[in-house]
Amino acid sequence: MAQPNFSIEFFPPKTADGVEKLRATRGRLAALNPAYFSVTFGAGGTTQKGTLDTVLEMRAEGLAAAPHLSCIGGDEPSIREILQQYQANDIRKLVALRGDMPSGYGLGGSFRYASELVEFIRKETGDWFWIDVAAYPEMHPQARSPQDDLQNFARKIQAGANAAITQYFYNADAYFQFIEAAAKIGIHTPIVPGIMPITNFTQLMRFSDMCGAEIPRWIRLKLASYGDDSASIKAFGLDVVSKLCEQLLAGGAPGLHFYSMNQSEPVTQIWQRLV
Ligand SMILES: Cc1cc2nc3c(=O)[nH]c(=O)nc-3n(C[C@H](O)[C@H](O)[C@H](O)COP(=O)(O)OP(=O)(O)OC[C@H]3O[C@@H](n4cnc5c(N)ncnc54)[C@H](O)[C@@H]3O)c2cc1C
Repeated sequence: MAQPNFSIEFFPPKTADGVEKLRATRGRLAALNPAYFSVTFGAGGTTQKGTLDTVLEMRAEGLAAAPHLSCIGGDEPSIREILQQYQANDIRKLVALRGDMPSGYGLGGSFRYASELVEFIRKETGDWFWIDVAAYPEMHPQARSPQDDLQNFARKIQAGANAAITQYFYNADAYFQFIEAAAKIGIHTPIVPGIMPITNFTQLMRFSDMCGAEIPRWIRLKLASYGDDSASIKAFGLDVVSKLCEQLLAGGAPGLHFYSMNQSEPVTQIWQRLV
């Protein structure tokens, strides 16, 4: 069996202190030898320059780094300019997303869906980029139904995406069912599970409410029962997420993509249990 690809996601820091911290974090995570790092891209102009700056700094350090690119609120000239910047810097891989507008912003822009962005990237740059897109084993929160969401996912593959990374989830069955449903409609591109370490209950509940990821009742209750006992939350989270990763890899997942939240320790601890 091919060696699974492990990758790690960062967000671009907003402060000088955050930049320094990320340097230290990625130094530690680079020792794990991931296939690549990816760097998120904020909608509405929040962290867009930070994405390229972070990717370039990492590449200068000899690390494989891929930018995300989200299209909501953007127009063709602005996305074209970003693609040209990426090409000029010999970036060959990106993660193409619709993005979410910060509250208070209207939708606007030339792109409604990530499939339109993928189409535009292919039209503008041919096969220059390897394009990853997002997939939702538990359904994107704005989709009308799981079937609709799967069809919309298929549009992104048909538009030219090479592979996908999922939203995080804690039910392995949701992932395997999604892979099966995708295969049934002819999608055999790699779909890599996104993995969110569990370290902070309040933060996890907040993110999960926003992105539609389900925290199974037994996990929620257990985490809530620890109250402020952060060490127990982390130890339990490490067990749960490591077992999830083992299950996913044993079931044939082509790799794992870790949402690091710019922290090295949770990813390192899970990783060490897997290798
Ligand atoms: C791996 C990963 C990385 C991410 N990185 C970032 C990032 O860097 N920056 C950021 O801002 N956000 C990021 N996100 C969050 C993402 O932008 C949001 O989840 C967003 O709400 C949807 O993006 P998408 O690319 O999946 O959108 P889409 O694939 O466009 O789907 C969005 C919704 O529209 C529906 N839809 C799609 N096409 C159609 C159609 N033709 N007709 C009707 N409905 C349709 C879908 O079913 C879905 O409900 C990331 C998510 C993941 C999973």
